[in-house]
Amino acid sequence: MYLYNVHTHKIESAIENGYDVKCILNTYPEDFGQKKQMYPNAWFSCGIHPWFSDGSEELFTLLEKNAKDPDVVAIGEIGLDRLKGPDIAKQIAVFRKQIELAIEVRKPIIIHCVKAWDEMIALYKEYKGTVPWIIHGYRGNPEQTKQLCKVGFKFSFGEKFNKKSIKHIPLDSIFCETDMSSVTICKVYENISAEIGLGLNHFAILAAGNVKKTFQ
Ligand SMILES: [Zn+2]
Repeated sequence: MYLYNVHTHKIESAIENGYDVKCILNTYPEDFGQKKQMYPNAWFSCGIHPWFSDGSEELFTLLEKNAKDPDVVAIGEIGLDRLKGPDIAKQIAVFRKQIELAIEVRKPIIIHCVKAWDEMIALYKEYKGTVPWIIHGYRGNPEQTKQLCKVGFKFSFGEKFNKKSIKHIPLDSIFCETDMSSVTICKVYENISAEIGLGLNHFAILAAGNVKKTFQ
């Protein structure tokens, strides 16, 4: 049985506590080729991070090429960040181009969003029903979670998350990740499954089903 790690920056063990581990390794347009060679069994996301939106025209051309690679299963991490990076208008312009690319290649997007939820929701509504949008490293409170669920977002949880928010999320919209953290993916699955009130195996089957439905 597989534990899917939908967002990580490094690949560690292929087996944890008897489970096979399958990672979606995050890459940038400029390092995708190298990472693909290093990790021939991984899946990948590829995208221009909002922090690096400025002067990203050449990177976008490279991303257009990478996005068609069958091992790239998602466009990301992409999004908006009000605390870091160029001004929000620039970030939105680069985000839009990548959303449209994701729609063109019919792959889900993995979202980085910091304090830009109004803009994020407005964009989701504009492109609604095209490809799945997964908010990575989600830590929002229950109020925000209810609002985002109603709109249609999906959520990926890592080491730190808001325990009170989990019960507001439909079970078909939950994913797990390790991102930059040193915690194991098995530990993340244990934490989330305990919060939902499911056994680890049961939750792993459910999350694997979500991955198969979302990432082709
Ligand atoms: Zn990340």
